[in-house]
Amino acid sequence: MEVFQMMRTERFEQIVFCHHPDIGLRAIIAIHDTTLGPALGGTRMWPYASEEEALTDALRLARGMTYKAAAAGLNAGGGKAVIIGDPKKDKSEALFRAFGRFVESLKGRFITGEDVGVDVNDVEYMAMETRYVVGLSREHGGGGDPSPVTAYGVMQGIRACLLERFGNQDIQSRRIVIQGLGKVGFHLARLLSRYGAVVTGTDIDPDRVAFARRHIPKLQVVEPEAVYDVEADVFAPCALGGVLNDATIPRLRAPIVAGAANNQLAEDRHGDLLHRRGILYAPDYVINAGGLINVYVEIEGYDRRRAITLTRGIFYNLRRVFEISRREDIPTYIAADRMAEERIAAIRRVRNFHVEQPYLARYPRYARQ
Ligand code: NAD
Repeated sequence: MEVFQMMRTERFEQIVFCHHPDIGLRAIIAIHDTTLGPALGGTRMWPYASEEEALTDALRLARGMTYKAAAAGLNAGGGKAVIIGDPKKDKSEALFRAFGRFVESLKGRFITGEDVGVDVNDVEYMAMETRYVVGLSREHGGGGDPSPVTAYGVMQGIRACLLERFGNQDIQSRRIVIQGLGKVGFHLARLLSRYGAVVTGTDIDPDRVAFARRHIPKLQVVEPEAVYDVEADVFAPCALGGVLNDATIPRLRAPIVAGAANNQLAEDRHGDLLHRRGILYAPDYVINAGGLINVYVEIEGYDRRRAITLTRGIFYNLRRVFEISRREDIPTYIAADRMAEERIAAIRRVRNFHVEQPYLARYPRYARQ
C-alpha cells in the first residue's frame, strides 16, 4: 500500500503506529484533519486479518469523523484509532494504559473514547495515563451513556424532515416506524410517543421488544422482516448499517428515512436511488451526531444541558443540507459532505492572519488546541 499517496489523496495529516513489544500492543492512530480543532474519534479493537486491513479501517473511520464533527458545527476534527487484537481474549489493563500513553504523547491532537470492542472500563484504564479521553461514566465526570442524547438529536432531525417534506414539523399523529429497539431506538420510540406520534417498532431480540412494550404502552410491534413494508411518514433505521439497498428501497412506504444507524446506505448509489424516488434521506452522520456532541461537551467539562442545546442544532444542520440538496438538485448524502467541506474550507481561510487572543484562555470552549 502506498501510504503517502493515500494520505495525499485524502488529505490525511498524520498516522501514528504504536507498538509496545512487552505488552503486545499494536495500534494505529489516524488523524485526518484538525482544521477545526483536535481530532476526535473512538478507539476500536478488532482481530484484523492483516495490518493493511487495520490501517484501511482506521483511515476510513477517521475521515468519516472529520465530516461528522464539521457537519455538527463542532470545533473538532476527525481521527480514529484501532488496536489490533481480539477484544474477547487480548484485553488487559496494561494494554489500554500503554495505549493511553501513546494518546497522551500527542498532547491533545487526538481525543478518544469507546468504539466497537472497547468499553467504558477500557477507557477508564486509558484515562489513568492520559487526559485526552472522553466517554467516561457519570461517576468519573463523563457524560455516561450517550444514547438518550443521540435519540433526542434524531427526533430533532425527524422534525427537520417533516418540515421539509410536509411544511409542518409537528410530530403529533405522525406515523413513525423504528427498526431496532436497542439503546437509541428505545429512547427514540419513547420520546416520539410522548410527543403524540403513532410509533411502530421492531427488534430481532424479543427481550428488547418486551422491554419497550412495558415502557411504551401505545407501541405497535411488527416482525423484523415486515418493517420495510409499513406505511408510515418516517422510516427510522436504528439497528444496523447497509439497510438501504436494492432489496429494501423499492419496498419502502415512507417518504422520509431518518434514523440513528451508522452507514445506512449499502453503497453511495443507494443515496442516488432514494433521491430519484423522491424519498427524503437524512444523512446518517448528520442526524446521529448527538452521541458525538455528548462526548465533545465532555472536553469542556460535562454539562447535560449544554449537550442537549448543541444537539438541538441538528435540526438546523439538516435544514441546511436539504437547502443545498434542493438548490443544486443533488442527493442529500452529497449535500451533507459539501456542507462539511465548505465549513472546513471557510474556517481554514478565517485563520490566515494573526491575532493575539489571550482572552481565549478564559473561554476554553472556543480556544483552538
Ligand atoms: P444497540 O445494539 O443497543 O441496538 C441495536 C438494536 O437493533 C438491538 O436491540 C438489536 O437486537 C437490534 N437489531 C439488530 N438487527 C436487527 C434487525 N435486522 N431488525 C431489527 N432489529 C435489529 O445499539 P444502539 O446504541 O441503539 O445503536 C443503534 C445504531 O445507531 C447503530 O448503528 C449505532 O452505530 C448507531 N449510533 C448509536 C449511537 C449511540 O449513542 N448509541 C450514536 C450514533 C450512532
